[in-house]
Parts: sequence; structure tokens; C-alpha cells
Amino acid sequence: MTSPEPINGEHPIAHHLIRSARIVADDGEESVAATVYCPLQERSTTVAECESCRRFHALHFDATARTTSVVCHAGPATPGEERADPLHGVGGPLDPETPIADIMTRDVLCVRPEVTVDELAALLVGHEISGVPVVDAEGRPVGMVSRADVLRAAQERGDTEESQRVTLQPDDIAPLDIEQGFHVYEPIKTTARDIMTPVVLQVHESASIRQAASLMAYEGVHRLAVTSDDGKVVGILSSLDVLRWFGRSCGYLIPVPARKRS
Ligand code: SF4
Repeated sequence: MTSPEPINGEHPIAHHLIRSARIVADDGEESVAATVYCPLQERSTTVAECESCRRFHALHFDATARTTSVVCHAGPATPGEERADPLHGVGGPLDPETPIADIMTRDVLCVRPEVTVDELAALLVGHEISGVPVVDAEGRPVGMVSRADVLRAAQERGDTEESQRVTLQPDDIAPLDIEQGFHVYEPIKTTARDIMTPVVLQVHESASIRQAASLMAYEGVHRLAVTSDDGKVVGILSSLDVLRWFGRSCGYLIPVPARKRS
């Protein structure tokens, strides 16, 4: 990659890591919202916005760290940029004002409220994650679901799934040749909306580890949704992220998965 001349001679070229929020809908369809934190505008922007920005230079994929970044004339480096370096932060200052963007999970899986518990269980197991934000159509968090919520729902359901009586009307097309006057029982699907914690604890992407850790400890939760100015999920911060940062700051070489999730 060539390095173009800085615009106005004041902004060196810099990499800004792309964060992705993958949203799974009840029909299994996935949509991806890819954003970066723009240091000039001091807010999150979409990658599409970057590509039409005059400071944009290229998209860069780091095969080792498995991260993609926007390369543009907008230094200095945004938080989290150095995570590809395995020694980054090891023995560094134990600074509680470190931005959470430096340690949060940037590759976030989210679900829509209509996703069923069975689908949720498959997602949590398949992606080896302990919980996901539940988001609305705009990607704003409306709840949080954990493995414990899914297990509790499965235990409460037991072998006898709830059902609802459906009486056929004259104009209905009867399934399985059921005659008029008979009725069928349809199982009621438990969804993410039914089992989620409807209160979302969230922090702005510019918050510090001090603020986020205090909120987690005060509320007794293990994960926070990290949101941008427009309230959309751009990351997840878990208690394990904070512990990793603490251990690395104390000089321990604790691996940080480049694309780990919460
Ligand atoms: S390309 Fe433009 S919008 Fe994107 S981060 Fe750089 S300066 Fe900001």
C-alpha cells in the first residue's frame, strides 16, 4: 500500500478498526452494520460514509490479526488500533481512564426480539458466547439475553411446551385436512423478547474503563452494550475484557483474541 501525502500537511495516515454488529432476525437472515470511530468528527461513522470521504485512502485487511481497518488521513490512531500487536498493553500503565474502545469486543452478534429460544441456544453454542444484545430494527439495544436466561427458559418449559388453541374459521384453509369445527393446538414459541432482561445497561463508546467497570460492579452484571451517539450497538464490554486488561497491564502476556465476542 502506498502512503499518500497528508491533506494540508496536518493529518498523518492512520488505521481505524472496523467494528461490526451482526444482527440475526427470526428468519435466520443476518444484516451487518460496519462502523468505525472517526477521530475528526468524534463519532461513529459507517464504512460507506468513509468511502465517500475525501480523506479516505483504502480498506486494509490484516491477515494475522484478522481485522479490517479504514485507512485515511485522520490521525492519531483511534482506540483499539494496536490490539493486533500481541505485546500491546503488556506491562503498560494501569490507567483507569483508558477508553473502553481499546478493550471492548468489536465483532458483536445481536438478535432481534422475535428470535426463538431454540435459535438463540444454537447461536450461543455455535459462536461460543455467553450472551447477546437484543436490538430493534435500527440496531439499538432493547434487552440482553444470557446463557442462563436460555437455560432457565428450557428448564421452565420442560417436556410440555405451551400451546394455544386455534379454532378454524369457515374461510381458513384447514391444515392436514382437519374438518371445520375441530381445532388444533399450536406450540407457543418462546422468543428472546420473552426471556431477555429488558433493561439494557450501556455505555457510550467514549467512556473509560473506570466508568464502565464501576457500572458493572454496581449493577452486578458481566457485560455492557457499547453504543455510539445514535444509540446503536458498536461493541460489547465484558468483565473478562476488564480482567484481561488488568492482567496485561500488570505484565502478564494474556492473549486477546482478535475477533472474540462477548
Ligand atoms: S475516512 Fe473520513 S469519515 Fe472515515 S474515519 Fe477517516 S476522516 Fe473520518
